[in-house]
Amino acid sequence: MEKFDKFCQSCGMPMEKDPENGGTNADGTKNLKFCSYCYQMGAFKDSFTKSKEMVDLVKGKLKEMGYGPIKRWFYTSHISQLERWKR
Ligand SMILES: [Zn+2]
Repeated sequence: MEKFDKFCQSCGMPMEKDPENGGTNADGTKNLKFCSYCYQMGAFKDSFTKSKEMVDLVKGKLKEMGYGPIKRWFYTSHISQLERWKR
């Protein structure tokens, strides 16, 4: 078993919030590093190259969900530190 990461290493969403509990690898097995919104069948669903692009996307989603500016900042401030963006 792969270690269950606390947050998706792409968008920073808590993995417990993912209804599918993780993305999928190319061979159909579960990928617990990235959530089902970010990663399907071994590929990222977006073509982002910079963490800033992901931050903007997530901030937009949080806004739709009714989060204010401070919470939007709080939930996206760690995205640039995630594994996908560190390389
Ligand atoms: Zn994700």
